[in-house]
Amino acid sequence: MLLRSTNLQKLDRETFDVLVIGGGINGAVSAASLSAQGARVALIDQGDFASMTSQESSNLVWGGIKYLESGELTLVRKLCTSRNRLVDTYPSSVREIRFFTTLERGFRHSRYEIFAGTLAYWGFGNFRTDAPRLLSRADIERDEPVVEVDNAAGGVEYTDAYLVDNDARFTFGFIRGALDHGAIVANYVRSLGSLHTETGWITHAVDALTERPLEIRSRVVINACGPMVDLHNRISDEKTKHHHLLSKGVHLIVDRITDSRRVLTFFADDGRLFFVIPLGPKSCLGTTDTRVDALPAVVTPDDRRFILDNVNKRLRLKKPLTEDDIVAERCGVRPLAVEADGPSADSFLTLSRKHAVEVDSGRNHISIFGGKLTDCLNVGQEIADAVRSLGVALPFAGVRWYGEPPAEERERFFHQTRLMRLDDLTAKESSERISVRLWRRYAASAFSLLDDIRQDPAMAEVLIRGTEYIRCELHHAAQREMVTKLEDFLRRRSKIALIGRKEDIARAPGLMEACEILFGSAAQQKYEEYFEDLAYRESLTPALGSTPPEEISHPA
Ligand SMILES: Cc1cc2nc3c(=O)[nH]c(=O)nc-3n(C[C@H](O)[C@H](O)[C@H](O)COP(=O)(O)OP(=O)(O)OC[C@H]3O[C@@H](n4cnc5c(N)ncnc54)[C@H](O)[C@@H]3O)c2cc1C
Repeated sequence: MLLRSTNLQKLDRETFDVLVIGGGINGAVSAASLSAQGARVALIDQGDFASMTSQESSNLVWGGIKYLESGELTLVRKLCTSRNRLVDTYPSSVREIRFFTTLERGFRHSRYEIFAGTLAYWGFGNFRTDAPRLLSRADIERDEPVVEVDNAAGGVEYTDAYLVDNDARFTFGFIRGALDHGAIVANYVRSLGSLHTETGWITHAVDALTERPLEIRSRVVINACGPMVDLHNRISDEKTKHHHLLSKGVHLIVDRITDSRRVLTFFADDGRLFFVIPLGPKSCLGTTDTRVDALPAVVTPDDRRFILDNVNKRLRLKKPLTEDDIVAERCGVRPLAVEADGPSADSFLTLSRKHAVEVDSGRNHISIFGGKLTDCLNVGQEIADAVRSLGVALPFAGVRWYGEPPAEERERFFHQTRLMRLDDLTAKESSERISVRLWRRYAASAFSLLDDIRQDPAMAEVLIRGTEYIRCELHHAAQREMVTKLEDFLRRRSKIALIGRKEDIARAPGLMEACEILFGSAAQQKYEEYFEDLAYRESLTPALGSTPPEEISHPA
């Protein structure tokens, strides 16, 4: 909390080269790239970092195999190389994973055509991953007995990648990188609009916790508000060629469906790719693709039915999944970039997922439209180029601003953990060794966690029962992760709220001690606020059978 209040004071005292509005993945990489390359950067988010679309993705780092069907070969090539770059530069957090695809009889393409597609896809990714495999019905039955094969025509298996922790944690890594390079960053600061003046931009903002008004001065404004880019441009009188159409995507989290670490892939009843994705001890099912015109989008009974019906139809489960099996839900809105008035509602499902960086050089304003988390490194670099083109000097242009520390540092870290026998302290129920976990989540900062554990072995104890978070991680989060509300930690810095039911989290031994570490004397208040907010959000979810007014189409 100290970091945030210090930064809040600085926000309206200084003039920045660049103010980034929005701390989702696009804003986070912009701030990380610009600050590492030497710009004076500020970033604000109206909520927590990654609290909108960037916490609701499928957690896949993928080349977009499905866009082969719509002929977007350049996009697929670009996403495959972006995926490879993330796998290379984040070897602990972005890992390859096999996609096990079952095709039904009568599907619009034969399995040989689909296999040819996966071979081409493999080539688009420079043959970097394991080779695709053609699957017979017998292969499917043997390798994934949970898959229903009665109507199966065979399938294919190919490789893409996924985020080992989750999207929001990955996004926060860039926010932390920006902070480490001197960016002034604060969550829960809402922009009320930016005013262009002769001397630059003045952004009127408000601290969402105290309602204190702030004026933030900058030479350049970057609008990285995701689904709210159009709204922010409107209130800032900024005209753009692009705008967004919004597509709602829902995922449901249930207990783990298969122990294999593959993504099970199907074509759902609406003909779209549909996944069962490993998420720690759970499986994440989804997703939907529904056009919406208003925010916030919420999970409807139809969404749940669509996902559960599709899964029940294609898997051999001991007992069909029902709403009672849902541990948690995710609901996000894909901002899809379109030019002018955009396509008709009929072509909505085939809209391109390309991003667009629109630069207004007359007013030193940049808007980021659309995109994929997978393409984040390209966005970061494009933004740095755009900011430079607006006359902002980047004294360290070209410096590497992303990626895990070099292999020698990693080796030094693991050597130290071996010397102190750190992994002997790993709790029995943990899914991975403490050393592996600390390096992946904290990279170079993990050395300071080793110091904590050396001083007090209790720092290596799991703090919140039922999770794998050890005591020193909470101390680290309190100091370095700008955890302002309990939800920031439970839902985004960690994935506890995604894999646990709220009743179990509320009762988890250790949660109150975690709150005390994070919030000191405000612990009880933050605990209560979290569960009250959760209850309020649940009250927004429509009752079974009703459909909220913003829904204008549904794939089911
Ligand atoms: C269901 C679904 C599945 C997806 N799956 C994948 C996938 O598997 N792989 C992949 O690569 N991509 C995936 N995507 C796409 C990816 O998640 C998005 O492209 C990406 O998260 C968009 O990031 P963003 O930074 O543009 O927007 P956001 O993450 O929405 O960030 C915008 C931020 O701006 C802030 N903001 C808005 N207004 C203001 C204001 N006035 N003042 C201050 N802050 C403001 C918001 O609070 C928010 O944090 C998926 C998307 C969805 C919805």
